[in-house]
Amino acid sequence: MARSIRTVLVAFTFQALLGATTTDNRPLTVGVSVINRGYANREIVHAATDGARGIFRQAGIEMGFVVVDPLASRVDAPKPAAFHIVLSDQRSPAKHVLGAADITEQTAWVLVRNIRETAQDTRTDEATVLAHVVAHELGHLLLGSPEHSVSGVMTDPMDFTLAEQGGLRFHVEQIRRMRQRLVSPEP
Ligand SMILES: [Zn+2]
Repeated sequence: MARSIRTVLVAFTFQALLGATTTDNRPLTVGVSVINRGYANREIVHAATDGARGIFRQAGIEMGFVVVDPLASRVDAPKPAAFHIVLSDQRSPAKHVLGAADITEQTAWVLVRNIRETAQDTRTDEATVLAHVVAHELGHLLLGSPEHSVSGVMTDPMDFTLAEQGGLRFHVEQIRRMRQRLVSPEP
């Protein structure tokens, strides 16, 4: 009898852990325009949006990135998007500043020069750094909060060695809050 109760409790806990990411809901789809003002190398942008998409997919959120590329000869018309990421070629004198999010405008700026330097300094892959900064700034927009956490993708500063190992994720509570805000946005 005791054994069967324990089994039920373990199963319930496991279900609760999985719940936020997989079982309770279908994936939510979010449109994000990515305005590329900073990268001549579009492969990095595409690798980074793939990386950010993977981080959000684990949260049950499907990111529909549309890259708008004023540097390219052919410019796709921007489609209506809920959120906007600007890959800026501006440089912050504070080296560790890699991006900024304006929650009211649902827009974030990502500083590609600072990201390039950080990738070189930390000997990590530039697309991986960019992917995590994009996910982090989008995290601020989706959470509606400037707050940081002590671990995961919402840490500041992020550990990009850990990022390369796939170790930076959203926490269950952050996932719950992002999904909740997407389903019923606060006024
Ligand atoms: Zn932040």
